[in-house]
Amino acid sequence: MCYLQPMIVVKVGGSAGIDYDAVCADLAALWQGGQRFVLVHGGSGETNRVAEALGHPPRFVTSPSGYTSRFTDRETLEIFEMVYCGKMNKGIVERLQRLSVNAVGLSGLDGRIFEGRHKDSVRAVENGKVKVLRGDHTGTVERVNADLVNLLLNAGYLPVLTPPAASYEGVAINVDGDRAAAALAVALGADALLLLSNVPGLLRAYPDEGSLIPAIPANDVESYLEFAQDRMKKKVLGAAEAVQGGVRRVIFGDARAGEPISAALAGAGTVVS
Ligand code: ADP
Repeated sequence: MCYLQPMIVVKVGGSAGIDYDAVCADLAALWQGGQRFVLVHGGSGETNRVAEALGHPPRFVTSPSGYTSRFTDRETLEIFEMVYCGKMNKGIVERLQRLSVNAVGLSGLDGRIFEGRHKDSVRAVENGKVKVLRGDHTGTVERVNADLVNLLLNAGYLPVLTPPAASYEGVAINVDGDRAAAALAVALGADALLLLSNVPGLLRAYPDEGSLIPAIPANDVESYLEFAQDRMKKKVLGAAEAVQGGVRRVIFGDARAGEPISAALAGAGTVVS
């Protein structure tokens, strides 16, 4: 594969406060300047809102080791797909098209871009007891169809990707977007992975925004897990997986305003290298 410039994977979250207009405007300007990107996005905040409105409120479970995740029964998976693959994905593709960027929006199911093992049951701590919950449609990305993503890039399209992934049996599974983006960055041999969210970066004393950790050495990412609570843990894990897989730089950046991609590339946020 031959690119004029190194490839960058940008993952933008789905939490309240993220400015998708700012992300798309910055992405379009950099893309038109010749930089190649793949965008991965989330949609958790909007999914929670739509799930409530449809009378099927989200259920979050905490594993014995302290990781929080969405329990995804079949109905939740369908709502998840409506929001992630529908409203969020097409909203981003439309913004980019308006900015004259020929974006193509696909889920991890399409062409098995993201593929992994389906985990049907989850161990969860409820009222101090560990329970086994069945009927979960979740998993972890283990394989990436980099050929399909490269096919789009080489033809001049900007891929806009989102969970769910495909299980090896072809069933849709909810996967963590940060870790999917990390697997993608590794598979594409990306130069950098940007994990943009609604915080300035990894905070030593969350939620104190003055406690930003500016830099993390690539060989010591896991020891920073202690500062991350709940969903931030997945980002730190994703960063560790990306740098271990050869991605030179992972940056936790702020997507609430301004030029979030340019700022992160210039070193704002938490830089893992
Ligand atoms: P997104 O959906 O944007 O990818 P998440 O909501 O999954 O983002 O994760 C980011 C959230 O993690 C922040 O909004 C914040 O509430 C939480 N968080 C927990 N610990 C930290 C920390 N140490 N530093 C920054 N954010 C943290």
